[in-house]
Amino acid sequence: MSSPTSKRAGQVWAHVGQPFTATEFDVVIIGAGRMGAALALYLGQLGSGLPEHSLSVLLVEEGGLPNEEGATILASGVWTTLDLPPAQHARAEWTRQQLETALGEVQFQPRPLVALYPDAEPEVQPTREVLAPFPEALALIDPDRLPFARLDAQAATYRPASVALNAAQQAIKLGVNLLLNTRATPSLGGVRLERLTVTNTHQIVTHEVVQVRAGQVIVAAGAAGASLAEHSLGRHIPHAEAYMQYPQLAFASQSRTPTLRVGPLTLRPAHGQWTLEAQPAHRDPPNYQPCGGKLTGVPTGLRRELLELLVAQMEAVPALASEKLELGRSLSDIAGAWVSLNPFPAWQALGDGVYLLQGGPNADTLGLSVAYELAGEVGKAACGV
Ligand code: ADP
Repeated sequence: MSSPTSKRAGQVWAHVGQPFTATEFDVVIIGAGRMGAALALYLGQLGSGLPEHSLSVLLVEEGGLPNEEGATILASGVWTTLDLPPAQHARAEWTRQQLETALGEVQFQPRPLVALYPDAEPEVQPTREVLAPFPEALALIDPDRLPFARLDAQAATYRPASVALNAAQQAIKLGVNLLLNTRATPSLGGVRLERLTVTNTHQIVTHEVVQVRAGQVIVAAGAAGASLAEHSLGRHIPHAEAYMQYPQLAFASQSRTPTLRVGPLTLRPAHGQWTLEAQPAHRDPPNYQPCGGKLTGVPTGLRRELLELLVAQMEAVPALASEKLELGRSLSDIAGAWVSLNPFPAWQALGDGVYLLQGGPNADTLGLSVAYELAGEVGKAACGV
């Protein structure tokens, strides 16, 4: 029996040269984005608090940590309770506390958020007054078209990719095992693992397939999660995903510059410039292949739906009409990722010891608390409580 202090660190398999001989785990988590990594950390903490029930946990990730192609690495990392229903406030506060104190260096910094409106809304102030201390933010917009502003002075920004990395590293110290470059599929009573490798000609191929037994499987595979769970359970799970892009806007920003929100568009100060994030109006159909659109007949890397959305905001945000907006020439020029569009991060039990954990746009504000809740649930089930 191990005690919290004598608990051994977990094993890490980063590439196929390291033999993987394990056959059984209490819990397998599929996906080491911020949601899966946070769940692994909280399960690790739970396991070290209950040495007599020491949980064996395997965290599986198709790519590296953090995966260059996951949503976590591109998420804007804006923590705000503006427009959050009161029922979600406790979760937001819990998540904030974790970001500030428990997850290591995630570049958490207070940064106000200013939502701008063409018409009066509750609790608005004049835009010119609110943005007066921030001329670099005022320079992006037309305050005559967006004369009303609501300020979230408590808002903050941070790096979600660091959350995934730090949470996974802490989880390993607490005994959680990590298997990278491996695609996992839930299967009867366990998980099928395809260990992937790259050939000399840069093709990704399966090196070996391993089946492990698992008491519980948590699908935390981001936008791919719901359909992965659907395939394994053979039943429909309502879900919606979209391919989101995050173009740069090369206007100057500073460390205290507020995040701006105009309709579905968030303008997030980052690296001395701005990153745009537009909330998609619709889900993308299954099997949709994202492709660049055209602006005045010229091919761009921005998809048509995003171009339409940006054009609709150009009068209110004249900066979008400048040559400083990154247009790219093809899709690969613009950072983008598939995201699940569920309004709030959530988990659900799908039966047969399988759970689905999803992040999505509000994961910046609420994600850690939802992962923590699920850890409690999974821990109880694993201990037979
Ligand atoms: P979230 O914010 O919900 O954590 P992400 O997209 O950032 O969403 O994270 C999901 C992670 O799951 C990604 O790193 C992705 O590579 C990984 N993933 C997706 N499908 C699989 C799979 N079948 N097996 C292992 N990892 C997967």
